[in-house]
Amino acid sequence: MFLIDGHLDLAMNALEWNRDLRLPLVSIRDREKTLNDKPDRGKSVVSFPELRKADAGLVVATQIARYVARDNPLPGWYSAEQAWAQTQGQLAWYRVMEEQAELTMVKDLASLEMHVNYWLDPASSGEKKTIGYILSLEGADSLVTIDYLQRAYEYGLRAIGPAHYGPGRYANGTGSEGKMGERGLMLLKGIERLNMILDVTHLCDDAFWQAMDNFHGHVWASHNNCRALVNHNRQFSDDQLKVLIERDAVIGAAFDAWMLIPGWVRHVTTPEETNCTLEKVVDHIDHICQLAGNVNHVAIGSDLDGAFGKEQAPYDLETIADLQKIPSLLTRRGYNSDDIGNIMHGNWLRFLRKAWS
Ligand SMILES: [Zn+2]
Repeated sequence: MFLIDGHLDLAMNALEWNRDLRLPLVSIRDREKTLNDKPDRGKSVVSFPELRKADAGLVVATQIARYVARDNPLPGWYSAEQAWAQTQGQLAWYRVMEEQAELTMVKDLASLEMHVNYWLDPASSGEKKTIGYILSLEGADSLVTIDYLQRAYEYGLRAIGPAHYGPGRYANGTGSEGKMGERGLMLLKGIERLNMILDVTHLCDDAFWQAMDNFHGHVWASHNNCRALVNHNRQFSDDQLKVLIERDAVIGAAFDAWMLIPGWVRHVTTPEETNCTLEKVVDHIDHICQLAGNVNHVAIGSDLDGAFGKEQAPYDLETIADLQKIPSLLTRRGYNSDDIGNIMHGNWLRFLRKAWS
């Protein structure tokens, strides 16, 4: 079934993990057998061939580069200018993948409809299909000044999450707190003026509520789970989910095991010992549907290979192609085929058509 994945850090994998995503997964993993610079070496689950097996015809793909101040222990760049340059390298990689017909950029209603028709056309089945991508920026630190937003829009950026982990130049993110200052509020205005999508994922609670009060455009949460099931400020409380539902947002369910299992300790807890299967993701999907009273506000935003691999993902997922196990899990919980289509692709599509019409 046609799948839209609302969050994948494809360029980060290419440039920081040094993965050639055109290759079969087995080759990508094999090349990393002797590496131990990152905990997920040799455990990746995403490649272009696997995305095609996943029927993932459209993904939201990120640029990502954090700025870190002297006292910030997180990994990142020491200036916004360096972070910007990193995102431009990521853009260059997306462009060369476009030249090779691995990817095609989707950035407005016309390109969306054209690409969806192409992907769903039975005549194109069997061939090596070009995967559509919508460009998103995860964390806005790399926008050197607010004027860079316009530049980014012009090269195709269509969604922005102002924050990532820790304190940010525009907004504070996961694990931190505090409202946005003038710069963050200006960013929200700019996103609204350009009709870009505000991704509220990773906003700390203070910034989240401030954004709800100050931003009047289209809002999604590309990869976010439920605090009621796993209590952490990375997740949304029921109150946050309800306000998103009221604003006709779509929330992408994330597949990172520490967002699925309470008390997960990174690099210690294992998916097997905690029985972390795809059912845990379906719990979060179901929770959002129960809150909404319908199936219109939750979708897939897997974040697979987002700085974690098989060691921190549901263990019944060997590659991203196993996202196609989700429909049967939903069927067993009483979801009908229309519901499942909405979760797999329909909700993101409806959102994009409305945002871009
Ligand atoms: Zn993220």
